[in-house]
Amino acid sequence: MRLSATSYYVDYVIYPVAVTSLTAAALLATPIANWGVWLISVAAGAATWTFAEYQLHRWVLHHVPYIKEMHDAHHDDQKALIGTPSWLSLILIAVLVLLPAVWLAGFSYGAGFTAGITMGYLLYITVHHGVHHWRIRPGTYMYRLKHRHALHHHFNDAGNFGVTSGFWDKVFRTDIDPRRMARRASH
Ligand SMILES: [Zn+2]
Ligand SMILES: [Zn+2]
Repeated sequence: MRLSATSYYVDYVIYPVAVTSLTAAALLATPIANWGVWLISVAAGAATWTFAEYQLHRWVLHHVPYIKEMHDAHHDDQKALIGTPSWLSLILIAVLVLLPAVWLAGFSYGAGFTAGITMGYLLYITVHHGVHHWRIRPGTYMYRLKHRHALHHHFNDAGNFGVTSGFWDKVFRTDIDPRRMARRASH
């Protein structure tokens, strides 16, 4: 939804604090001998985020009524401060990730997994803000992300739903190839 500058940018204060606190709390609850396995739970959370990012963007932001309208507003006005308010994303992460993960895997690994997901989310909002608002040097990874996201804005439902990586678009064959799209349009 359309946010005030304060509610848009406050994510960049709240999320680093949330990630740090969760990481610290989880580590304090984990014996040093288990830190290696704990790190794997964080990595699993981060990897799960990339999958969630793709699926949420493809199916929720582009199809669910009401949410779709808000996402369309971002497609139409890319520089507008449109996003998910922090209170909502925090509740969703707490209810859909933290609680079930702690229930299934215990506090230490459940909080580690949630920290990984939350790091992924922070990276996602940062990259998505960056590709629309920052000047990015050509030849960098971030420039590639900017280019593929610009193609998503142009071709919309056709693909490039991943924002922080193109991995899942390759897996689900929604990677946009501009030359193929041009050929398809000319037929
Ligand atoms: Zn965008
Ligand atoms: Zn989109």
